[in-house]
Amino acid sequence: MAIGEKVGVPCSDDELFSGNLDAEKTRDELNIARTKLGEFLDLIPAGLVIHQTHAIIFANSEAGRLIGIPSDLLVGHHIFDFIDGCDAEMMRAAFMRCFSEHVAIRSLELKLLDVGGHERIVQLSMSPLFWEGLPVINIVFNDITPLKQKEQQIYVLSTTDSLTGAFNRRYFMDSAGREFSLHLRHQTPLSLLVMDIDYFKKINDTYGHGVGDEAINAFVGGCLGVLRQEDILGRTGGEEFGVLLPQTGLEAAAAIAERLRRRIEAIKLSFGSERVRFTVSIGVAEVRPGDASIEAGLLRADRALYEAKAIGRNRVVADR
Ligand code: GH3
Ligand code: MG
Ligand code: MG
Repeated sequence: MAIGEKVGVPCSDDELFSGNLDAEKTRDELNIARTKLGEFLDLIPAGLVIHQTHAIIFANSEAGRLIGIPSDLLVGHHIFDFIDGCDAEMMRAAFMRCFSEHVAIRSLELKLLDVGGHERIVQLSMSPLFWEGLPVINIVFNDITPLKQKEQQIYVLSTTDSLTGAFNRRYFMDSAGREFSLHLRHQTPLSLLVMDIDYFKKINDTYGHGVGDEAINAFVGGCLGVLRQEDILGRTGGEEFGVLLPQTGLEAAAAIAERLRRRIEAIKLSFGSERVRFTVSIGVAEVRPGDASIEAGLLRADRALYEAKAIGRNRVVADR
């Protein structure tokens, strides 16, 4: 690739070399070096673009691949002729700032669309410099979409229970701590439910673990149908679950628990011609002034659950 032609290195100046055999030789050598440098820049697995105020003057192959246009066709156009997407404005602002304030912009993560409409997450840096007295910007960008997808997968795996898709115990407890801090800071009510499926061992023993698993899944599905977006449902044990109810006082929480209890009672699973049904017992507690941590509220909800089990199961007991 003839970089010099695009970036205007001195070898394009015929006058400089005319009538001089040494200069002819130097020009040939420079052309070879330019080609080799171009080949080398094409090997770099990052998009490289050199941009004057109004147009690209150099782009390597990876830049072309990421933008979706062969690199030599990018030259002469403005980079924003090819870029769109939700963060294009942010990139434009960074570009303008880089030109006007001569500051380098490092490691911006942006969601952009290439010319084919494919969304990519790119990590992008820009640095300003002067090229033969004219301001240019060097732009370096990497496609970090696969990395971000992996990060998201790892996050989901580390926060959710693989059987049901509900949050796992660790995420639930972390969230409980966070919600407790918010409750203290904003003085908003916070309630908790502790739920345990009744006689679950009997379901496993009678119908097998497959049906047991199905029941746990149906339980979570039923709960999610009742709870609000901001409520946090966590599987805290085998057939035990917790719910955080932000901005909710005790009576409202008890009403939600009762709706959950009825929803679970209505679930019917099929086992041959049989209908498998099950119930849940629920303890409800509200975080109180003077509670040193969320543990105090969880302990009261646990005690209420114990009472619900003791007085016959399939019921809601609130810690009043
Ligand atoms: P109680 O009404 O007192 O809560 O009785 P229970 O039978 O529900 O309570 P127990 O703690 O004796 O039994 C819980 C059972 O849940 C035992 C365990 O084998 C089963 N279990 C735990 N996790 C899973 C799971 O992921 N799948 C299935 N199928 N069973 C599970
Ligand atoms: Mg249990
Ligand atoms: Mg149980």
